[in-house]
Amino acid sequence: MAEKRRLNKAQFKAEIEKCLHCASKPCLKACPIGCSPHDFIEAAKSGDMEKAAKIILEANPMGQTCGLVCPDHFCMKACLRANIDYSIKIPAVQAAIISEVKKQGLNCLKCKTSNGMKVAVIGAGPAGMSAAAFLSRNGFDVAVFERENRIGGAMNLIPDFRLSYADILQDWENVCANGKIELFLNSRIDDFSALLTKGFCGVIAAIGEDEYTRLGIEGEAYAVSYFDYLKNPESYKTQGSVAVVGGGAVAVDCAVTAKRLGAQAVEMIVRRRVPDMRVTLEERNSLLENQIDITSMTRLCKIEKDDDGLVIHTCKTKFTAEGLKDIEGSIIKRSGFDRVILAVGSKRPKLDEKEKIFYAGDCILGASTVVEAAASGKKAAENLMAMVAEIKA
Ligand SMILES: Cc1cc2nc3c(=O)[nH]c(=O)nc-3n(C[C@H](O)[C@H](O)[C@H](O)COP(=O)(O)OP(=O)(O)OC[C@H]3O[C@@H](n4cnc5c(N)ncnc54)[C@H](O)[C@@H]3O)c2cc1C
Ligand code: SF4
Repeated sequence: MAEKRRLNKAQFKAEIEKCLHCASKPCLKACPIGCSPHDFIEAAKSGDMEKAAKIILEANPMGQTCGLVCPDHFCMKACLRANIDYSIKIPAVQAAIISEVKKQGLNCLKCKTSNGMKVAVIGAGPAGMSAAAFLSRNGFDVAVFERENRIGGAMNLIPDFRLSYADILQDWENVCANGKIELFLNSRIDDFSALLTKGFCGVIAAIGEDEYTRLGIEGEAYAVSYFDYLKNPESYKTQGSVAVVGGGAVAVDCAVTAKRLGAQAVEMIVRRRVPDMRVTLEERNSLLENQIDITSMTRLCKIEKDDDGLVIHTCKTKFTAEGLKDIEGSIIKRSGFDRVILAVGSKRPKLDEKEKIFYAGDCILGASTVVEAAASGKKAAENLMAMVAEIKA
């Protein structure tokens, strides 16, 4: 899918020429982080790619990543060009601009001189990266503590064919270009308040969601969670049949990954109807392109193992006034699966409200998107800066 997001010169030109320069800027209004496609496309059209990149990165430090993975329900849904033919591929245009500027080696962002104050950011996912970017640009020295051995958080679970680690690093390099951010990897922080006694004037905790949802069914241990699967899909490679339980974007990533890695047949088991699946047009197309089967109105109720591999027990579901219910007597048993992957959601961590600690990203929003997490990081940075200004006044 990311292949389609990487525009060549001719495609880039075709997309930017489609812009109508709508005076009301609906594309800007639809962007969670306040980035203006209207303005960066105008700058790109005039040939000033540095200005275009500056407009993007000033609003959104995750410019490259969002360009490659932003869903189509923000700026693209608002784009008025759709009234004529199709929405402009705004995220892809954005990614092309950031890549081009990087190629030219331009450093287009300026920041304020140091104010001598230190802030700790916990978590180097998009919310933490964005918070660190806005704080450092505003004169703070920032220490980012990340428990893993790499930055990126949940973005690392997005399959490589959509987003590579090099893409995430490209945003990180832009974020750190001012030299005021120090990164501490393999540094899990358990006591957030303790940082306030170590010279930090405030803490932004952008720790994401730490648990995936379990089904609580018999034999669940035979399945692998999307979390473990997408962390290292090569280690779960199979040439046989794979069942993916779940009907959202993460389930689509699991299904397409399994197929691309050689599974002969991949089937998604979805409790609701196909039109109810919360997936973008791009994701629907990728299911078709990869010949992924969908069994809808179906719930997985048990997993067993026999000589032939995994056996799944499923039952049909129906909509009732009390919500989705199982249809009695509809259980069937199917054998011959090599792998069952569960992608049925994730859980927010329990958070302690404390003074001078600001939470950002999926840990408060629930499963969201890179751009929404980055917007939340930006908001947390603004709230922290307002607190500092109030204390000073
Ligand atoms: C498979 C998959 C596909 C996705 N696809 C898309 C997509 O196409 N488009 C899109 O926009 N979004 C997508 N998303 C969602 C997006 O990745 C998340 O919404 C986003 O990463 C959340 O950002 P965050 O910074 O809030 O949390 P995270 O990205 O989860 O980052 C939190 C970070 O905090 C660290 N951390 C946690 N606790 C501690 C601690 N105590 N001490 C130190 N560090 C800690 C974690 O290790 C992690 O690095 C996808 C998510 C998944 C799982
Ligand atoms: S809504 Fe679409 S056509 Fe209108 S200014 Fe924005 S990008 Fe251009």
